[in-house]
Amino acid sequence: MTTTVVRVPLAASPYDVVLGSGLLAELPALLAKYCPASRYAVIADSHVAEAYGARVRDAAATVAPTTIVTFTAGEWNKTRENWAKLTDELVASGLDRNGAVLALGGGVAGDLAGFVAATFHRGIPYVQIPTTLLAMIDASVGGKTGVDTPSGKNLVGAFHQPRAVFADVDTLATLPKHQFVAGMAEALKHGAVADRKYFERLLETRDKILARDRETLVALVSRSVEIKAQVVAEDEREHGKRAVLNFGHTVGHAVETAAGYGVLHGEAVATGMAVEADLGVALSITDAGDAKLLRSALEQFSLPTELPGAAKPQRLIEAMRRDKKSRDQVIRASLIKRIGEPARGKKGEWTTAIDEDAMSAALASAG
Ligand code: NAD
Repeated sequence: MTTTVVRVPLAASPYDVVLGSGLLAELPALLAKYCPASRYAVIADSHVAEAYGARVRDAAATVAPTTIVTFTAGEWNKTRENWAKLTDELVASGLDRNGAVLALGGGVAGDLAGFVAATFHRGIPYVQIPTTLLAMIDASVGGKTGVDTPSGKNLVGAFHQPRAVFADVDTLATLPKHQFVAGMAEALKHGAVADRKYFERLLETRDKILARDRETLVALVSRSVEIKAQVVAEDEREHGKRAVLNFGHTVGHAVETAAGYGVLHGEAVATGMAVEADLGVALSITDAGDAKLLRSALEQFSLPTELPGAAKPQRLIEAMRRDKKSRDQVIRASLIKRIGEPARGKKGEWTTAIDEDAMSAALASAG
């Protein structure tokens, strides 16, 4: 087993991301060390519960009584209704304020289970055990939890940092290819907003990444988590710099909303980055050569750069106005200056107000 530990150095609640190969076998010791509790509740979606639920439940049960509660897999199930159902099941299982939640699965399980933990008895400890690439490098780190509503993504939620994150790259072996590739959008984003060398290394090691070579994956997850941890530590509540992680997400979230969750989050972010890079070029903010390089990188990982048919520009604009990132209905986006460097506004702000005509033009050329 190879294990790497990345610290998320938050002032009030620092925690470790333990990542490596063969980590699930170490779960009893990891739980006893990082999140001892009187009782555990594993929350997982239906797919992950079937693949890894019994293993995780049995491992946790060697530390404290453990129940597993599940919900049907899929982004459209990240809802208030499932938050209520899972919370009721936790109460019925006998979990109390001395208990802890184990969020097992992708970003949907992580966000939903994290929100259950954030609100149960006004907040109980939880551990993230991510099993998708996207959840390992992004969703499990940073403490954002929540659910979607019919009006938009993640509109209801809370900041609640986990006690620890345990990411076993071996679980990625069973992840469907399109899900794995979707996670690469966030890895490329990390390079694009923070580390050009990392971005270039992702392209150089593309074949090994796609072959899911364990060592390459440990290095990838580790560098991405370092980048995310650093940004989150500088701005835990997203009042400033954390916005750089939203590159591609203004358009991406709108695509997810408009396409009725017909596209994966990572795919929507990929298209979002391509559109926002073009928008940045049109606004003389983004280097034109780097916008091209980004598009080519996305294509090399077979990620989409064009809008899906269901995402009509006008609907996208309406969704963007309602997005959490907009202010007083003015659309805002986190753009890049060049690969590895986020753009800053005239007053040093990390997001740029976007004129709707400019956004419409960028969307039209991606349609
Ligand atoms: P997901 O959780 O829906 O998982 C994708 C699919 O893969 C699901 O069907 C799941 O059952 C299946 N799966 C998961 N692990 C598997 C494995 N090891 N083997 C086989 N199948 C497996 O989707 P996701 O892409 O992981 O996460 C997307 C969500 O994450 C979105 O809701 C997004 O908003 C959220 N997110 C949150 C943050 C944050 O900071 N909290 C950041 C980025 C994304």
